[in-house]
Amino acid sequence: MHLHEYQAKQLLSKYGIRVPRGIPVSTVVGARQAALELGGDRWVVKAQVHAGGRGKAGGVVLVRSLDELEAAARRLLGSQLITKQSAPEGLLVTTLLVEAITDIARELYLSVLVDRATQRVLFMASAAGGMEIEEVAAREPEKILTTRVHPAAGLQAWQCRLLGYGLGLDGGQIKELQRLMSGLYRLFMESDASLVEINPLIVDAAGGIMPLDAKVNLDDNALYRRPELVALRDISQEDPREAAAKEHDLNYISLDGSIGCMVNGAGLAMATMDLVKLRGGLPANFLDVGGNATAERVAEAFKLILSDGKVRAVLVNIFGGIVRCDLIAEGILKAVREVHVSVPVVVRLEGTNAPRGLEILAESGLAITTAADLTEAADRAVAAAAAA
Ligand code: GDP
Ligand code: MN
Repeated sequence: MHLHEYQAKQLLSKYGIRVPRGIPVSTVVGARQAALELGGDRWVVKAQVHAGGRGKAGGVVLVRSLDELEAAARRLLGSQLITKQSAPEGLLVTTLLVEAITDIARELYLSVLVDRATQRVLFMASAAGGMEIEEVAAREPEKILTTRVHPAAGLQAWQCRLLGYGLGLDGGQIKELQRLMSGLYRLFMESDASLVEINPLIVDAAGGIMPLDAKVNLDDNALYRRPELVALRDISQEDPREAAAKEHDLNYISLDGSIGCMVNGAGLAMATMDLVKLRGGLPANFLDVGGNATAERVAEAFKLILSDGKVRAVLVNIFGGIVRCDLIAEGILKAVREVHVSVPVVVRLEGTNAPRGLEILAESGLAITTAADLTEAADRAVAAAAAA
């Protein structure tokens, strides 16, 4: 799960980290009021979308008057912001962050992430701030400084000094960096974050250091124990099909082919896709309904698969171990009745209550093809997709 910049900055504040003064708004009038409340005569208007690269895409606007501010707010609110990191159609801007402007002396980079190779929390810093870190890593890898935190010992002062000297900071700034890094480390651990990225981390005109931008990604698998963070989720920024899948606890992956695959279990999904390919077809997606599928969830899964315009045929491959095949069959019928199904559906059921499941499908009178084994099912789905 991703947080918006303004949410990330509020979280940083909670951990005692100084951030630019700012107010999130969703209307042009609100933007004006926010500017008056912040005071001064220069502000930054920042589109709140779940993608970086906003600056280059016109989503971060420095303004020198209330008129300019209103013009920027009017242009951005309700628009689709297309950045290098967004989907081609862009992301809808419904919220702006209005900030008092900060004068920048230097732009640095600082991030915290999980290093899978060493299974440790990794701090990464670079003096080349404001640029995409991937570019720095590719062209000038020596400019990236890293330090890994021992899970039992926690973040140590020497690690902060190491990065601070590497960034060319002076003594006072290094103390500030240490406070900042300690706060980030606690935030990272206590939020079950997978990434906290500060780009740029700036040295301001007075020599202080402060995050000017903040990106926080959370580990979805730990959200169940972070209800206060779940409340910050903005579904409007997510892929609608993947968001719907999450809603029903389904694992949905979009692919390029034409055959929608509904399967239970990741291993079976892989085997199913392999066989589809072997028999000359290409999967359009795969959807894992998991082990505890109910008729309702199967119906939702089915609707999800059908909502993808690329799908020319649907292949349902269920092995009933824990899940009962008759329930799966009922779910399929429920979905087929609720949504208009314009593509052929091939079903292979095996395991618990499979005969009853196939009976239910046969009795329904709906145009559903059943298959005795997976090879036959794959062949039928591939043929149906090719004919459609
Ligand atoms: P991103 O492009 O989505 O990563 O958005 P950022 O929040 O990083 O903003 C992009 C750039 O806008 C920054 O790298 C800064 O150069 C500039 N910027 C943002 N806020 C301010 C500010 O308060 N003062 C100044 N001078 N520049 C800013
Ligand atoms: Mn940035």
